[in-house]
Amino acid sequence: GRCFYFDETASTNAFMLGHATELKSGDICIAEYQSAGRGRRGRQWLSPYGHHIYASMFWRLNNDISHASGLSLVIGCSIVKTLADFGVEGLGLKWPNDIYLDHSKLAGILVEISQSSANQTELVIGFGINMSMSVEQGELIDQPWSDLSSLKEIPDKTELLIKLHKTLKADLQLFELKGLGAFLERWNEYDLFVNREVSLLMAPNSVSGICRGIDQQGALLLETEQGIKPYIGGEISLRAA
Ligand code: ATP
Repeated sequence: GRCFYFDETASTNAFMLGHATELKSGDICIAEYQSAGRGRRGRQWLSPYGHHIYASMFWRLNNDISHASGLSLVIGCSIVKTLADFGVEGLGLKWPNDIYLDHSKLAGILVEISQSSANQTELVIGFGINMSMSVEQGELIDQPWSDLSSLKEIPDKTELLIKLHKTLKADLQLFELKGLGAFLERWNEYDLFVNREVSLLMAPNSVSGICRGIDQQGALLLETEQGIKPYIGGEISLRAA
């Protein structure tokens, strides 16, 4: 695979989306700084200099888009497993795309679709991980955040990236063979909201209930007086009630 390395770029996802036709599964883009790092629905991923991780990997699924549902959960499981292998404790996953450390946001995932047809789906899988934020950098983030600076040993960024790249590729292959079912155990181990009261925000509406984990498609299972119902889709945000 190839690695595109930038000191500075607008967004590693944007770079990969712009070059998708030339890319192969496993190709990766890494930047030291993003001037327009992206979150979901036009939100921003704050991406200052400082050895933080901003990376995007290209992946081609030999299947239609319906088979990509739940993919961001797989990526969450991959990143959590890799960080745990580096000795990080206190990790948690928040459906559908966030990684927490000690109940604050450590890392974000943004899966974007480059192209899809009946037998192929091209995806760009972006992730940002805070390594060691300065107070000034952190002040610009409008929700509780965390980084890896409190660890006894901060992982070496290059080693972490190499391990992440390997784990992501292996997990995506497993996902293609076995589906999300192969990851449910890991998801459940790290799920921060299971059996808790939550609200799902689906502007302009919201629905509250008890989170009962996820199903085989990656939908969030919400229990209300009407029973347990799956919720899926890029427009939904989960919050503690
Ligand atoms: P959702 O629950 O819908 O995913 P979210 O607020 O987590 O909502 P995302 O699109 O996943 O939204 O991530 C973008 C948000 O993450 C930003 O609006 C900001 O609050 C927060 N954020 C931005 N940069 C960072 C960062 N470097 N570290 C931690 N959090 C960040």
